[in-house]
Amino acid sequence: MIDPGEVISRNLTDVKRRMQAACERAGRSSASVSLVAVTKYAELDWVRAIVALGMQELGENRPQQLLQRADQITAPVQWHLIGPLQRNKVRALLPRVTLIHSVDSVRLLEAIERIAGELQLQPRVLLEVNLSQEEAKHGFSEAELRDAWTSIQTLQHTQVMGLMTMAAYSEQAEEARPVFSQLCRLKNELSQQMPAARADQFRHLSMGMTGDFEVAIEEGATLVRIGSALWQGLEAPSE
Ligand SMILES: *Cc1c(COP(=O)(O)O)cnc(C)c1O
Repeated sequence: MIDPGEVISRNLTDVKRRMQAACERAGRSSASVSLVAVTKYAELDWVRAIVALGMQELGENRPQQLLQRADQITAPVQWHLIGPLQRNKVRALLPRVTLIHSVDSVRLLEAIERIAGELQLQPRVLLEVNLSQEEAKHGFSEAELRDAWTSIQTLQHTQVMGLMTMAAYSEQAEEARPVFSQLCRLKNELSQQMPAARADQFRHLSMGMTGDFEVAIEEGATLVRIGSALWQGLEAPSE
């Protein structure tokens, strides 16, 4: 029988080595990029195993599963929401997440701001940008984000920490490069249109998944969201 802990340990070491190599190629310090371990396809045992290996930044794409797992994992970890958030889930979610990567509309941002005020929280969020022009993808278009930018500067509770994107799925990681470099340019451009204090915290680029994280790091990612590469070689028990 395979020991999930051993497999995950090997996978994690390999992912970190590849992250470090990408940092070296880009002349970046390896401390400038953090790994978010995406647990959406992982069994609870596997999540416990990766936490035992020292991984503390965990990502889920469904609010319901994030909340459930936040109850189940008692070790000190930080949860990232990386998938769509409905406004009626914001109140339950805000106290439990360290960063919401997937704020995809002004309406959602306004709901977060209002509820953060009521709960006296200062949630950290990223704005998701749809640069691959795929209808199915969530996120602001560049034009929508530019239009909303001035009003986003008036938020009192919500901390806008940067931008997030997903490249179109492709077998070729290189195909994602233009999307990642475009997100980086957009972040730099928008941060010049912010008061200095806010621009300092507007520093994150969440981009890169199993298929393209090395390219994303070369293009400036500060957060990579990796799932499959950490769980490969493991199989969920059949129901
Ligand atoms: C599932 C998911 C990931 C991780 O994908 P892998 O290809 O398994 O690494 C990253 N980001 C988002 C938004 C996801 O939904």
